[in-house]
Amino acid sequence: MTKSEAQGGPALVWLRDDLRLADQPALAAAIASGAPVICLYVFDEESPGLRPLGGASRWWLHHSLKALEASFAAIGGRLDILRGRAGDLVPAVARAAGASCVFWTRRYEAATIEIDKQVKAQLSDEGLRVESFNGQLLFEPWTLRTKTGDFYKVFTPFWKACLALPAPGAPTPAPRKLAAAQWPAQAPERVALDALGLLPTKPDWAGGLRAAWTPGEAGAKARLAAFLDEGIGAYADNRDRPDLPATSRLSPHLRFGEISPRQALAAVRHAVDADKAPSRDVDKFVAELGWREFSYHLLFHNPELARKNFQPRFDAFPWRAPSDAELTAWRKGLTGYPIVDAGMRELWLTGTMHNRVRMIAASFLIKDLMADWRVGEEWFWDTLCDADPASNAASWQWVAGSGADAAPYFRVFNPILQGMKFDPAGAYVRTYVPELAALPDEWIHKPWEAPPLVLKAANVALPRDYPLPMVDHGKARDRALAAFAELKAAGG
Ligand SMILES: Cc1cc2nc3c(=O)[nH]c(=O)nc-3n(C[C@H](O)[C@H](O)[C@H](O)COP(=O)(O)OP(=O)(O)OC[C@H]3O[C@@H](n4cnc5c(N)ncnc54)[C@H](O)[C@@H]3O)c2cc1C
Repeated sequence: MTKSEAQGGPALVWLRDDLRLADQPALAAAIASGAPVICLYVFDEESPGLRPLGGASRWWLHHSLKALEASFAAIGGRLDILRGRAGDLVPAVARAAGASCVFWTRRYEAATIEIDKQVKAQLSDEGLRVESFNGQLLFEPWTLRTKTGDFYKVFTPFWKACLALPAPGAPTPAPRKLAAAQWPAQAPERVALDALGLLPTKPDWAGGLRAAWTPGEAGAKARLAAFLDEGIGAYADNRDRPDLPATSRLSPHLRFGEISPRQALAAVRHAVDADKAPSRDVDKFVAELGWREFSYHLLFHNPELARKNFQPRFDAFPWRAPSDAELTAWRKGLTGYPIVDAGMRELWLTGTMHNRVRMIAASFLIKDLMADWRVGEEWFWDTLCDADPASNAASWQWVAGSGADAAPYFRVFNPILQGMKFDPAGAYVRTYVPELAALPDEWIHKPWEAPPLVLKAANVALPRDYPLPMVDHGKARDRALAAFAELKAAGG
C-alpha cells in the first residue's frame, strides 16, 4: 500500500480506448482498491504527435462516451470529461483529488506511450500507485519474438506463436456498483460531452451512420449476439461476400474498446463448446482477430507505420499524384467500376466498408490510379468508424505491397472479376449504386459492355446516369506493373 492509499484518497481510472464496464481490468482495480472512484476521460487534441480523429470516429466517440456516461450513472458512478493535454490534466486531477492510485488500459501508438510513461513517472514519484493493464489486445506486442529476437513480419508464424502462448484469461463481468468520488474543487474544470463538438452539424452528414450503428457497450454486445446467431455458422465460407450479413461488424466497437477482444474470443469459443458453431468457422474468425493483433504488433515495433513504407524500397516508387477530379471520383464512388463505387459509397454513407471491398477499392486507388497508399489511408482515416492506427495503416500497406507480409505488388485486383465472384447477383452493388439496380446480373459489374437494348430496358443511359470507367483496367494494370518493374530494375 502506498502513502496516499493509506491516507485513503480516491482511485482514478483514466479511460481511453476502453469505453466499457465489463472485462475492464483498470476499472476493476480501482473498485478493488476500496476507495471511491473518479472515472476520467480526457479529449486530447493538443499533445504533440497525436493524430486527430477523423470525422466518423469523432461521431462514434461522442455516442460511445454518451453511452458510457449512462452506464456509469446506472451503477452509481460518473464519467468526468476534460479537454486538453492529458499529460498535464491527469496528474492535475490526481493531485487535486489526493488520489491514492491511478489505473488505465495500455495503448500502443508511440505518442500515447510517451504520454503514459511521463504520467506514470510523475505520479509514481509523488507516491501514487500507478498501474496499467492489457484490455485492448489478446497478446502484448512485446511478448512475441522470433527465434532471433526480432519482431514478427509474417502473419502465419506470428499467429502460431500467439496460439502457443497461454490462452488469454476469461473476461470478467461488469461491476454492479461503484462509489463515485466527488470532483475535487481544485481540479481543472470539466466539460460537457456536447461541448467537445464531436458531432457534425453543418451539414449533419451522419444520418447513414445513425441508421447503421449503435455505438456503446450495449450496442457491441447486441452485435456480438447477432453475429453468434446469424454469421459465425458460415463465417469461413461467406466472410468474403459483401452481399451477405456474414461478418461480425464488431470492428468499431473493438476500436473504441466497447468490447474487448477477450470477450469476442470467449464468446465464439463458447459457441463451439456448446455445439452452436463449427470450429472451422470460429478458427477463421479468431484468425481475423489475429490480424488485428498482428497490425498492433507491427505498429508497436514500427511507430511510423501510417507514414512510412514498411519496405523502404517502395520509397523510390514512382507514384502518380492523382488529379483532384480523379480523387473525387474515387472518393464519391464515381469511378465507373460498380464494385469500387458501391464500396466507396457504403463507406461515405455508413462509415464502414466490407473487408473484401476495402481491398478492391484500395487496389483501384493504388494500382489503377497509381496513387500513393497514404492518400487512401487518410481518406479511410477520416471516413471509417473503425479507423484504427494499426489496422488501417497495416492494411493499406498490405494492399500496396509495401507492408509486412503484404500482397505482392503485382497482385492487382480486377474490379470486374472480383465483383462477379464475391457479389455474384449484384445485390451489394444494387444497394449502393441504385442507378444500376435494374441491370441484369450478367452486366451489373460491367455496365459499359451491356448491349444497348439491355441498358435501355434497365433505364440506364451511360454516361448520363452512371460514368464510364475512368481508366481502362487492363491498361492501368500494365502501367502499374511497368512502374513496379522499373523499381525492381533500379534495385528496389
Ligand atoms: C484498406 C483497408 C483498410 C482497413 N482499415 C481498417 C481500420 O481502420 N480498422 C479496422 O479495424 N480494420 C481495418 N481493415 C480490416 C478489415 O477490413 C476490418 O477489420 C473488417 O472489415 C471489419 O469488419 P468486421 O468487424 O465485420 O470483421 P470480421 O470479419 O467480423 O472480423 C472480426 C474482427 O477481426 C478484425 N479484423 C478482421 N479483418 C482484419 C484485417 N484484415 N486486419 C486487421 N483486423 C482485422 C477486426 O477487428 C474485426 O472486427 C482494413 C482493411 C483494408 C483492406
